[in-house]
Amino acid sequence: MLSFRLQQLRLLACNSLNKSHRNIIRSVASGTYNVTTPLNFIGGQRVETEESLSIIDVIEPATGKVMCQMHECGATDVNNAVNAAKQAQLEWGKLSGFERGKILSKSSVLLKQKQEEIARMEVYDTGKPIQEARVDVQTAIDSIEYFSGIASTLCGQHFSLPNGSFGYTRREPLGVVAAIGAWNYPIQIAAWKAAPALATGNAVVCKPSQFTPLTAVALAEVFIEGGLPSGLFNVVQGAGETGNHLTRHPDVAKVTFTGSIETGSKVMQNCAADIRHVTLELGGKSPLILFGDCDITNAVNGALMANFLSQGQVCSNGTRVFIQDDIYDEVVTMLVERTLGIKHGDPHHEHTKMGAMMNEEHAHKVMGFIERAKKEGAEVLCGGELVQMEDPVLRGGSYISPCIIKTGPSDSMEISREELFGPVMNVYSFKTEDEVIRRANDSKYGLASGVFTKDIQRAHRVAASMQAGSCYINNYNIFPIEMPFGGYKKSGLGRENGTVTVDYFTQLKTVYVEMNDVECSL
Ligand code: NAD
Repeated sequence: MLSFRLQQLRLLACNSLNKSHRNIIRSVASGTYNVTTPLNFIGGQRVETEESLSIIDVIEPATGKVMCQMHECGATDVNNAVNAAKQAQLEWGKLSGFERGKILSKSSVLLKQKQEEIARMEVYDTGKPIQEARVDVQTAIDSIEYFSGIASTLCGQHFSLPNGSFGYTRREPLGVVAAIGAWNYPIQIAAWKAAPALATGNAVVCKPSQFTPLTAVALAEVFIEGGLPSGLFNVVQGAGETGNHLTRHPDVAKVTFTGSIETGSKVMQNCAADIRHVTLELGGKSPLILFGDCDITNAVNGALMANFLSQGQVCSNGTRVFIQDDIYDEVVTMLVERTLGIKHGDPHHEHTKMGAMMNEEHAHKVMGFIERAKKEGAEVLCGGELVQMEDPVLRGGSYISPCIIKTGPSDSMEISREELFGPVMNVYSFKTEDEVIRRANDSKYGLASGVFTKDIQRAHRVAASMQAGSCYINNYNIFPIEMPFGGYKKSGLGRENGTVTVDYFTQLKTVYVEMNDVECSL
């Protein structure tokens, strides 16, 4: 059982909304969880930290209240987790894929049964609206279910060689995989890394972000209930130093990392030092192109989906929205109207569409980008303000009203080039296809891209031209589990999801079989 105690439960009628804040949803249930059990999970159980590097206050974003004080794991705890994983992997790696798949399949069913409970926990951890948190848990379920099926399909190739000799290849696990995650999609990131790693016969040591420690441990308990042997999925809590110990541990065979470019580079350097496998899922500043012939209602919906989910804290967000000049005024008017209507407030409320920023520090970072953009001459068309929620329960949270910014003809402003990771959409006008392709690709990032048009040839031409790991045609920010996801340029290395993921969690052995006497020329 997940042992979290809801300290406060507040009920409020929607009709008490203040008219001047008609889009601000007041508190339904944002009290504070009191976390009473250890958050590390090693060798099949929750365990206290043995070597505490520091104590971290875990804050509930919606209220700003402290949910617990968490000890940051030192080298001893990391070592314990890696050792547990190493031992467990020896037997797990020998099972057939079908046997591993059955355990993962059962785990996905159990996770489905706990979807609401874990989604609520995710809201406490991240401040994102409950409707989105439910989808996040569903994407975790999908991943575990998908890779439970993939497990039994692992196979190699057969080669016929002269005179009856032959060869074959085997897909073998790597060993212990370190999975390090960002704070915006904690359960999804943990599952998207654990499911393919476990399906292919590896063991996992997961380090979630220090800001969002709750749901990776919940996932660990689900795996145990599903029959996963102890030690195969471990969780160590902590920040950079814990991550550093993990990525430098000699028994870690691979690191799968999701986070910023800066940290990704450090992780890669640690991996390079020991020639360790690494995949990186990093940041983005993705372009979304709306051509004059598009279905405008769909394009506006797509642009909103591309910018304001999870308070804009989504790596793949299409924050640079290029709109062809003949529809620019109409689209921008619709975007501003729809953005002003986004319901903002208590993330536990069923009608809330935008919740709290991750924490005060991050909210001020995003506000800094907005303030500097204004000084550079950008025009704020709506939002972009720190909102003080009326409800006293929510007063300690950091809320930024969803924002649309017009930067003028230049693409060189900081706000056009850097990832803000907040609810800020930039709008630009363009004239021609060649011009917009050049401007869209003028970025160090290359995570995602999107195009809205009814011209099928143009749609595919633009998709082929985008220097990005994904391109959405006439939609945005959807992630079917069977489709690979990952970045070009500085947005990352490797892919998650889809069958291609198997290659990133296995190594290939080639076996030569001689059927004749050895001919020796010596
Ligand atoms: P971050 O880089 O600050 O932290 C990510 C993780 O790395 C955390 O768990 C952190 O504790 C850990 N860490 C920090 N220093 C470390 C070190 N020296 N060694 C090992 N681990 C270390 O990123 P964040 O602020 O948590 O997340 C936001 C970033 O993540 C954004 O840039 C966003 O675009 C990106 N992101 C990318 C994807 C993707 O799939 N491409 C998905 C989600 C988030």
